[in-house]
Amino acid sequence: MDTADGPDDANARRNEMEALYERARALEEQSGAAFTAAALEAAEALAGVMPSPPRRMVAAELKIRKWEEQDGLCGICGERIDDLSATDIDHIVPHTHGGGNEPVNLQLTHLGCNRRKRADVDPLELLDYVQGRFDNRPLRGPRPT
Ligand SMILES: [Zn+2]
Repeated sequence: MDTADGPDDANARRNEMEALYERARALEEQSGAAFTAAALEAAEALAGVMPSPPRRMVAAELKIRKWEEQDGLCGICGERIDDLSATDIDHIVPHTHGGGNEPVNLQLTHLGCNRRKRADVDPLELLDYVQGRFDNRPLRGPRPT
């Protein structure tokens, strides 16, 4: 009997995601629309294999932590941030492209910078993110309880 989350399905999704990732990397030197599309496909497949973890820290705590990590500089424009109340937590790889809530995908930015951020994403940055997430985290396959 098959279930939606059976081990075979999980492996198939993982293999598919790996294939998409390899295909995107193979297109990297072209740096054209095909590369961007392949990178997006891989990131979206990753989101299916590894659901985003819930955000664990409240926004205020996270902002302080990111401000310290970023030496008080905006993640987008690189200028100083003087007022934490006029900041945003930005998803470096947007949710819509498979980006998750894990701290490595989050950065502190000026409010205005985050609003001006382009909706599209650098495909190289996207693939690096996919690779990092894929390498560092074990797949959550079905486990006996
Ligand atoms: Zn800024």
